Amino acid sequence: MGARTLAARFRCESIMRSPPQNPHDLSRHDLQDILSTIHAEVRERFDTQTGKVADYIPALASVPRDTFGMAVVTLDGDVYTVGEAHAPFSIQSISKVHTLTLALDKAGDDLWKRVGREPSGDPFNSLIQLEHESGIPRNPFINAGAIVVADVILSHYDDPEAAFLEFMRERAGNPDIGRDDEVWESERKSGYRNVALANFIRSFGNIENDVQAVLDFYYFQCALKMNCIDLARSLQFLADRGRCPSSGEQVTSIERARRTNAVMMTCGTYDAAGEFAFHVGLPAKSGVGGGIVAVVPHVLNLCVWSPALDDKGNSQLGAYALHRFTRMTGLSVF
Ligand code: GLU
Repeated sequence: MGARTLAARFRCESIMRSPPQNPHDLSRHDLQDILSTIHAEVRERFDTQTGKVADYIPALASVPRDTFGMAVVTLDGDVYTVGEAHAPFSIQSISKVHTLTLALDKAGDDLWKRVGREPSGDPFNSLIQLEHESGIPRNPFINAGAIVVADVILSHYDDPEAAFLEFMRERAGNPDIGRDDEVWESERKSGYRNVALANFIRSFGNIENDVQAVLDFYYFQCALKMNCIDLARSLQFLADRGRCPSSGEQVTSIERARRTNAVMMTCGTYDAAGEFAFHVGLPAKSGVGGGIVAVVPHVLNLCVWSPALDDKGNSQLGAYALHRFTRMTGLSVF
């Protein structure tokens, strides 16, 4: 994309009517330079970062902590990368955006009768609100909400895993995407909280299918391995009004794309979504595998990966990298 085109497109088509405060003119060269600068800054922070890998899932405990990858994919299909952007990692909760898209496609807006869309203010695997709110999870991006979304998918597909895998491969344009068996087994054996959440929701009548089958699908979606480029590509439709920019396919409606971005902004980064909006200002979804995907509406998608997590469960250096990216490019929805 030409030197002024990215910023110009942002100015003309931003969902905010006014331009960003200081929109930089970005060329290919600038974008690659920005990523290289961020990579160098992140490497300097490896020794002092306080983050920890997600060892509550035993198979994730052995992932090397000081790793970083980042990919930017523009709506024109240009790809910029640094570090381990080609290395597959466990996508974990990032998959909750994709399952929400599939479930909305099948269940329509009735889905919102079974899952809310308010930030929870509690940890992603908390049971507390469910009791007060009669088994209706606060939003689709905490575990409880994603388990209800998984149940909706089970009710609508004969082979939900095959349908989900096909969707992910198509969206990412990568037929090699698959499940990490070790992570899947590991979560199946150690997912005590998810078992509790699912049974608790079932007791309120908000799960229709066999609880173990719902959990198996939920572990499947979390255990897919994808790299930063795959993940950035897989959500391009959210930057392009629900449409896949390379195939032209309308993946979801304009309105649903806008609303999914809204839920990502308010609920996508655990109970740090306020801080994230403050420092990054983009719809984003993180996972405990250390990935974070973000959307710059009408311009590009990006994904960062660094496995060490802060105390809220977001990739510590990934969040830093996104903050630096938006500062250096001037790209933000605000
Ligand atoms: N599979 C993880 C869990 O259920 C997902 C957590 C996450 O990435 O937020 O705990």
